[in-house]
Amino acid sequence: MEFEAWWLILFPLCFGLGWLAARVDIRHLLANSKLLPRQYFEGLNHLLGERTDKAVEVFVDLARNHSETIELQFALGHLFRKKGEIERAIRMHQKLLARPELKQHEKHSAQYELALDFMKAGLFDRAEELFGQLDDTDFARAARRHLLDIYQQEKEWKKAIETAQQLRDTSHTYQHEIAEFYCELATAAMTRSQPQEARQYLQQALAEHRKCVRANLLLGELAANEGQFAAAIEAWLKIESQDHRFLPFAARKLLDAYDKLGKAEEGTALLKGFLSSYPELDMLDVLVERIAATESDAAAYDWLREELRRNPTMAGLLKLQDAQTKSAPAERRAELETIQRLTQEATRGASMYHCASCGFKARQYFWRCPACNDWESFLPARGQTKA
Ligand SMILES: [Zn+2]
Repeated sequence: MEFEAWWLILFPLCFGLGWLAARVDIRHLLANSKLLPRQYFEGLNHLLGERTDKAVEVFVDLARNHSETIELQFALGHLFRKKGEIERAIRMHQKLLARPELKQHEKHSAQYELALDFMKAGLFDRAEELFGQLDDTDFARAARRHLLDIYQQEKEWKKAIETAQQLRDTSHTYQHEIAEFYCELATAAMTRSQPQEARQYLQQALAEHRKCVRANLLLGELAANEGQFAAAIEAWLKIESQDHRFLPFAARKLLDAYDKLGKAEEGTALLKGFLSSYPELDMLDVLVERIAATESDAAAYDWLREELRRNPTMAGLLKLQDAQTKSAPAERRAELETIQRLTQEATRGASMYHCASCGFKARQYFWRCPACNDWESFLPARGQTKA
């Protein structure tokens, strides 16, 4: 009982102390607010009402009359950049940087802001130089992240690798990104007809991220280009244990390599086997074409109907309609074509690749989303919207 009585006293006591603290805070705030010029609140009001132009006008005036308020100059510079008035933002931050009384941290802050202005203006060289000077400061990490952006936009993959390695920590290892940067270097080397160099980059990609599917796809391509079809098949088959969802990307190439080795049937059986292990694979097109070419249109149609019964998908239905239309007698064809067109329009998304990060859709597969710039965010099956 005694214990409970204690609590009864404690409760109003805490309440009283809280009330007192709030009063003291409010008084403190009121005392401070009297020191702030009226224009400050006017500007703030415009900002809160999203009247940015008005706010800028008020703040510019305020900054002119109170040049000692460094925070205000920073805020204004930020506002200019946000409004897209980059030249004004640059001038503001350059003026700030030139002030001799600036403390070390403020100087770095102004340098960082100016670098952001240059970046937004597309003056990457100048931004890079300023961000580079922020090593060993509080802004080092944020600056490196922007440098990584710049290097990717400029396709400076070696610098991107170095920067990502500096940025890596337990929360973000940058494995996927670094492996992709090596793949980009490999692709460029392949374009320059430097297969050896490309191969080295791809090995580095796999060393960085052993599940890098793109590296094995490219290693297979390199081998196939040199007529090494068995080696090419070996590289592509590794994709199954890396991430089987990407097997369709190698499907046509695999069939071609098996054909070149005189093992056409083995190739077809392999793909059929993949599809029965992983019914969600996006390789109906390849197999339908294959069966039509090696057996007959009727055999391809029968096989497709059977597949669709086993695993009904929109992509399969579209393919079936296509086969039906092609094999239909002339008098029914127009009608079937209309049905096909309407289904295609209603299911437009079914033939597109989707970015899992931002939802961007494209007919072509991208290793890096052109809309949100995320790497490996596109899902490997057309029509798929969730990983
Ligand atoms: Zn995206």
